[in-house]
Amino acid sequence: MSLIDQGHRINIADIADHRQAAWERQSGYVARHSTFYQAVWKGKAPPPRLEDLPELPFSDKAGLRLSQEAHPPFGDYLAAAPDRISRLHRTSGTTGQAMTLGLSARDCEITEIVGGRAQALAGLRPGVMVVHCLNYQMWMGGLTDHLTLERAGATVVPFGVGSTELLVRTILEAGITAISCTPSYPVVLERVLAEKFPHLTPRDLGLTLGLFGGEPGLDDPSYRQRMRDTWGLEPRNANYGVSDVFCNFAAQCEHDSDLHFVAHDVLYVELIDPETGAPKAIESGTEGELVLTHLDRECQPLVRFRTGDIIEIRATEPCTCGCTGFRFRVVGRSDDMIVVRGLNMFPTMVAAVVSGFAELSGDYRIVLDTPPPYHLLPVHAELARGQIDDGTLARRVEAALKTRLGATATVTLLPPGSFPVTEGKTRRVQRSYL
Ligand SMILES: [Zn+2]
Repeated sequence: MSLIDQGHRINIADIADHRQAAWERQSGYVARHSTFYQAVWKGKAPPPRLEDLPELPFSDKAGLRLSQEAHPPFGDYLAAAPDRISRLHRTSGTTGQAMTLGLSARDCEITEIVGGRAQALAGLRPGVMVVHCLNYQMWMGGLTDHLTLERAGATVVPFGVGSTELLVRTILEAGITAISCTPSYPVVLERVLAEKFPHLTPRDLGLTLGLFGGEPGLDDPSYRQRMRDTWGLEPRNANYGVSDVFCNFAAQCEHDSDLHFVAHDVLYVELIDPETGAPKAIESGTEGELVLTHLDRECQPLVRFRTGDIIEIRATEPCTCGCTGFRFRVVGRSDDMIVVRGLNMFPTMVAAVVSGFAELSGDYRIVLDTPPPYHLLPVHAELARGQIDDGTLARRVEAALKTRLGATATVTLLPPGSFPVTEGKTRRVQRSYL
């Protein structure tokens, strides 16, 4: 096992030898066994030194998709013999075709330890009972995330999605105090409480820790305040990952609402300009696309993989919590970026404005009916339960969007409960012209 015990608490400079040795093993393995990378690298040998990694070309999601289409189900980036695969996941497929992920027993073990670091950082510990409410049906967020919760030492209730009335009763009867779910799920539970348990308020459930993940929007202060006010729970992003790489390798801690990177012993991180591919320094204030390389992966190892996530580095010094990884926040997806009159817009920016209105549920969509260019940002926002439009609300939200984002928006208000309950990631940008 090439994981370092408490690896997220050791300075990256102190594990340089470990990382170099891991790269020497991993790069040789990939060069010998990954037909995909043999083609991407055009037969060129990978550089011996880890810091020379930028000599290699990038790989991306489109390449993985084509690989799986041509070589189903795992693609020709499967580098291990099929009998090494011990777990198969399929992704939710919200951003295109579902991907098939294979993990060896060793891949599972490393995935669970790294994810467990993130869950522990977010406040999960032995003695805490947590109910896991993500979809277990093939998705990594189900079983594999469940096992990361166990790695943090917690008592884990495997619930999944749906059966919300049973969930409410279970939380009350078992004395559950933490919930692991998507950030939009509490809004769903609020609806259930209002309809089926009118004598209960969200606070009556006694949840004090919300371990969220899978969707952006958590960094928004008004969302966090709303969770504290309505539920009395502390919201944490406990679960940031890229399913093709690691399902969870970063989380927020109790001291800092920026995500902490916890996998320097098994992942090599680069930051690039998403337009030009030029490298950018990992230093406070830098923004760029996250590019990742596995340093220890058997089944589907990736090298210089463009994640499509645009992040901003917020700090590089160790945090008060003891984590030494750099801290960052996710600005958006490069494929979710909408350019409105030359301004780069991400759904998270809209979320920050929408969740500031008590009359709205916080759920919204950006609905694009035509291909770009865009002069206006079309936002569909849902009213909160019990709220009615006073006739000025849409104009007020438009004015707030203009002030905060600089873009002219058109806001369409929808009745409470208009948006479907989603299992897994909610797609905030809808491109109906595609
Ligand atoms: Zn911290």
